[in-house]
Amino acid sequence: MSFAQRTRHLQPEGAYQVLDRAQALEAGGRKIIHLEIGQPDFETFANIRQAGIQAIDAGLTRYTPPAGMRALREVIAEDAGQRRGLVLNPNQVVVSPGAKPNLFFPVLALVEPGDEVLYPDPGFPTYEAMIRVAGGIPVPVPLLETKNFSFDLEAFNRLVNARTRLIILNSPSNPTGGVIPQADLEQIALAAEHYDCWVMSDEIYARIAYDGVSVPSIASLPGMLVRTIIVDGFSKTYAMTGWRLGFGVMPEKLANIVQLLLTHSVGCTAQFVQVAGIEALAGPQDEVEAVVAEYQRRRDIIVAGLNAIPGVTCQRPQGAFYVFPNIKSFGRASSALAHLLLDEAGVAVLPGSAFGESGEGYLRLVYSNSIENIQLAIDGISQALLSL
Ligand code: PMP
Repeated sequence: MSFAQRTRHLQPEGAYQVLDRAQALEAGGRKIIHLEIGQPDFETFANIRQAGIQAIDAGLTRYTPPAGMRALREVIAEDAGQRRGLVLNPNQVVVSPGAKPNLFFPVLALVEPGDEVLYPDPGFPTYEAMIRVAGGIPVPVPLLETKNFSFDLEAFNRLVNARTRLIILNSPSNPTGGVIPQADLEQIALAAEHYDCWVMSDEIYARIAYDGVSVPSIASLPGMLVRTIIVDGFSKTYAMTGWRLGFGVMPEKLANIVQLLLTHSVGCTAQFVQVAGIEALAGPQDEVEAVVAEYQRRRDIIVAGLNAIPGVTCQRPQGAFYVFPNIKSFGRASSALAHLLLDEAGVAVLPGSAFGESGEGYLRLVYSNSIENIQLAIDGISQALLSL
């Protein structure tokens, strides 16, 4: 059997491969601590669950307009705009089942075969996949560990050029937790204007930020809204990964094309899920704040625990729920070390290499897990690495 060229490069996400292996060990009776899958360990907040259930009971189980219910687009425009100091029009908002279609479809709408697209390395694997499906040329930009895992700006300036159609940013980042500083955003914005390219800013972790940091958005810089797609959603902030609800904010003309791609692919986002989304944004936000405070406690524990292991160095990320410790001193491939930790310590983590070439020499650990499990994981990792 032969399949179309545009799908030949596709690979499963690393997290699912490790999960399979971990589950096989569990089936054999092993206890495994799961630090591989990037999703909140909390239940969706009760007011949001209730809103979804009531919407189903009220018969809100039908099609909606492809770009989403007007009422939801209005609340998103208001909330997403207010958080970024922008005035947004609901017509700029496109609702989708999860944030992912708002990554994929703007790329399909903008990138012609042969166009270059810059994206973070290490970065979320979907970026490279969608660039290649669109026929674009993926241009990974290395991140600098010592600079909050922001772009290596020298490399960025070397790689951006007249063929660059799109620059993808992700702050706070998966897999590093890094937040891109305002000064870097300003430089990236200058290049985007100079070469007249688009920017896709994946801000799905923007609300999960620590130490009182408010995460700057490149869309807030003067003149940038006309060339920026903000991608955000409900999965992480409101613990709604399985509901599938996300959105993009972009110039209206692009929103119209993305809307057509949604029309002819998924049709629309589930109506009762959108109603739950209105409650998420319009309802009380204290649970979001409590959860973020709890993540921050866990971050402090996991960072301190990892740095106490000889040979491991771990930055203190300002957002998301990932740490990306440097394990280069062990002289082994990150995939070999991840296997060893699963087999010897019963701790499932991802190799940094699952996120791109520049991720080699690191591991990704998810700390949306109980403090007890985090401490057990650190003990296990420590013992396994000390015995090397
Ligand atoms: N962007 C990043 C950086 C992510 O980590 C994820 C989820 N792992 C997504 C986008 C996709 O979010 P959703 O589940 O809402 O599609």
